[in-house]
Amino acid sequence: MEKKNLDWANIGFGYHETDKRFVSNYKDGVWDEGALTADANIVINECAGVLQYAQTCFEGMKAYTTEDGHIVTFRPDLNAQRMEDSCKRLEMPVFPKDRFVQAVADVVAANEAYVPPYGSGATLYIRPYMFGSSSVIGVKPAEEYQFRIFTTPVGPYFKGGAKPLTIKVSDFDRAAPHGTGHIKAGLNYAMSLHAIITAHEEGYDENMYLDPGTRSKVEETGGANFLFVTKDNKVVTPKSGSILPSITRRSLMTVAKDYLGLEVEEREVLLEEVKDFAECGLCGTAAVISPVGKVVDHGKEIVFPSGMNEMGPITKKLYDTLTGIQMGRLEAPEGWIHVIK
Ligand SMILES: *Cc1c(COP(=O)(O)O)cnc(C)c1O
Repeated sequence: MEKKNLDWANIGFGYHETDKRFVSNYKDGVWDEGALTADANIVINECAGVLQYAQTCFEGMKAYTTEDGHIVTFRPDLNAQRMEDSCKRLEMPVFPKDRFVQAVADVVAANEAYVPPYGSGATLYIRPYMFGSSSVIGVKPAEEYQFRIFTTPVGPYFKGGAKPLTIKVSDFDRAAPHGTGHIKAGLNYAMSLHAIITAHEEGYDENMYLDPGTRSKVEETGGANFLFVTKDNKVVTPKSGSILPSITRRSLMTVAKDYLGLEVEEREVLLEEVKDFAECGLCGTAAVISPVGKVVDHGKEIVFPSGMNEMGPITKKLYDTLTGIQMGRLEAPEGWIHVIK
């Protein structure tokens, strides 16, 4: 298979149309068999549920070329499960998990020419999503839905090394208690846009959202979970019912425990104790871990001992180990790597 002649190291994180995408439609209570199509556009009614009441959810994952030349995805069953959870919470029909995993493999295989080569630092980003496609004007769930998966090659997240981020403790809230923070709903992102634009205008890279109930506990950023490392090398991640359960973060906790022999803890993390941690990182599919150098709470600066120049040592080990597993350099736990070809 001839690869596309793309400048893999410099494609950045943007939408780059690839050849094929998967489409399946839900009508009269059943999903059709679905198909790959070359058409990147969608035509829906002006009154479609997604357009009026934001009935949509999505997933994000990647395909990698491993050291020995296979194309693989990482724990796609967890994306399938999370999408099921999102659909149930939004009163959308579930796309069966085994079909989800198969469709991901089919789309990646159909776009093999766009899967960046090993060592390029680039990957093929995969975006499964679903939306209410039939017309809805009285507030209720749509009757018809479309499930799609497209792919787009994305460049290395850290060009010229991972620069630690500066984060603002936000005055906006991301997710209400008992709301939709724990599912991957488009609506969570729509309402975070003003907060992130505001933070960027003020010179920050990201927002740290607190629990809206008490504004004393750390939740997450707009699109990544927090990991902290204590001064005695314990890996801590915040626990809350309104955090999106990041697959990267859950995998890193396993890596910390089983590969690095570290103690791990998922528990409530008070804003008050952030100043006592040695390292901090943001976890998600896009970057695996982005190091955080500084948290600013209304003028009060917390600078982690790892500083503003490089990843902390434990963060770096976690990053190297998980990317080593994803790229086939290290043996993966059972079931983590799904070989496509
Ligand atoms: C997608 C997402 C993450 C990261 O999840 P991964 O499965 O690791 O990619 C974290 N927080 C939010 C709010 C997200 O939407």
